[in-house]
Amino acid sequence: MIKKVLVANRGEIAVRVMRSCREMGILTVAVFSDADRKSMHVRYADEAYHIGPSPSVQSYLNIEKIIEVAKKSGADAIHPGYGFLSENERFAQRCQDEGIIFIGPSPYAISAMGDKITARKHMLKAGVPVVPGTEDKVTSDEEAIKIIQDIGVPVMIKASAGGGGKGMRLVRREDEIIPALRAARSEAATAFGDDAVYIEKYIDSPHHIEFQILADRHGHTIHLFERECSVQRRHQKVIEETPSPAITSEKQRRKMGEAAVRLMKAAGYINAGTVEFIMDPVGNFYFIEVNKRIQVEHPITEMVTGIDIVEEQLRIAYGEPMRYRQKDVKPKGWAMECRINAENPDRGFMPAPGRITFYYPPSAKDVRVDSHIYTGYEVPPDYDSLIAKLIVKGEDRQECIRRMRQALSEFIVEGIPTTTDFCQEVLGHVAFVRGTYNTSFVEDILGY
Ligand code: ADP
Ligand code: ADP
Ligand code: MG
Repeated sequence: MIKKVLVANRGEIAVRVMRSCREMGILTVAVFSDADRKSMHVRYADEAYHIGPSPSVQSYLNIEKIIEVAKKSGADAIHPGYGFLSENERFAQRCQDEGIIFIGPSPYAISAMGDKITARKHMLKAGVPVVPGTEDKVTSDEEAIKIIQDIGVPVMIKASAGGGGKGMRLVRREDEIIPALRAARSEAATAFGDDAVYIEKYIDSPHHIEFQILADRHGHTIHLFERECSVQRRHQKVIEETPSPAITSEKQRRKMGEAAVRLMKAAGYINAGTVEFIMDPVGNFYFIEVNKRIQVEHPITEMVTGIDIVEEQLRIAYGEPMRYRQKDVKPKGWAMECRINAENPDRGFMPAPGRITFYYPPSAKDVRVDSHIYTGYEVPPDYDSLIAKLIVKGEDRQECIRRMRQALSEFIVEGIPTTTDFCQEVLGHVAFVRGTYNTSFVEDILGY
């Protein structure tokens, strides 16, 4: 088995990955920037190395520095977490070149599913429905206008390299095309260093439903069922649950799961990954993207399946066959996750970094908190605003909601604004309780 893992990430996911390593008797190496000297992942690891200044381009995105630390520390594998270098083909390739195991898909699979435009092409070939739209990137304003007139508004202008809800603009009227195009391009250039955009039909009030996939090198590809992620602000998830209340028949569930498995097989995908779909109000579903990494909301799947996804990632990366077949995966109960972000919901969910003066997390049967914060911790302004994930399980959806509401009411973070009260508001809303919400819920129904 792998002996030492360098975790090329920070925050809750770095701690989460190290936890599974520890359980498996694997040593851990942390890397950290200036801003993260006192971060929990640094304390948690067996060894820790400073890799540069706070801005991520000079630290967590510095490929050569991270490779250098891996070699110096004798790590035989690197886990990239999510964000940062997790879906970077060049990084996966560099690991391979240095004989370091990259805990994720191959550079080839990353590039095949790499950007959204390429992934869409692959999906069409695999016979998976994609949202109607352009096949290639749009190269000029005139071309964009013509395409949008052909497809008809509303459309989404989307960055091919997009992620985390960035680089995406909804166009409802033709006079919005040019400003939306500019905005999507410049946001994408800043966030991803690539301003390529394409155009997709806007599916009105859809559900975001995704399937967790595991695939090994021995020809097994399975799914661990779905996650409903339609509670979103700025196209980014805030609350997730499994199963999805929007999938009302086992037949539909099977169809989507099989489509997800089929397309990952077609791409030669190995390790853990997620296939994201949007589903319209009458149940048509369309592929939107593959997340080629561990996902923020993976714990809800772990809660209902009992499978430690990070552990499977490590075993698969080492070349072992998976320990599960499709028939072994029998989800039990209902699970939800609330993302606790250092943000102010009343100010458009603006990031609100600062010092946490008091922290007290809830704890109970079937309650899990994945976090890296503590009393006195200073949330740096340089990174993602996620500070904790509250995950709970119940026998059924009602029990799950009740348990989550109780846990949220016990979740204390003082000193900075967070999304706990916002989550509480969502969980108390009749549309959420009935399970009839979709991606327009936060904006149109709650009015944020
Ligand atoms: P998930 O897809 O796991 O549900 P998010 O979409 O919220 O989660 O993304 C998780 C984190 O990864 C966020 O910090 C987000 O900014 C970052 N991220 C996601 N995709 C990319 C990408 N393509 N490039 C850079 N960062 C990304
Ligand atoms: P990211 O890489 O940022 O996660 P996605 O392509 O996964 O981007 O889309 C994020 C969210 O944006 C979706 O969950 C959905 O709510 C919304 N979205 C994306 N594409 C469309 C579309 N064509 N029509 C309607 N909503 C969309
Ligand atoms: Mg997505």
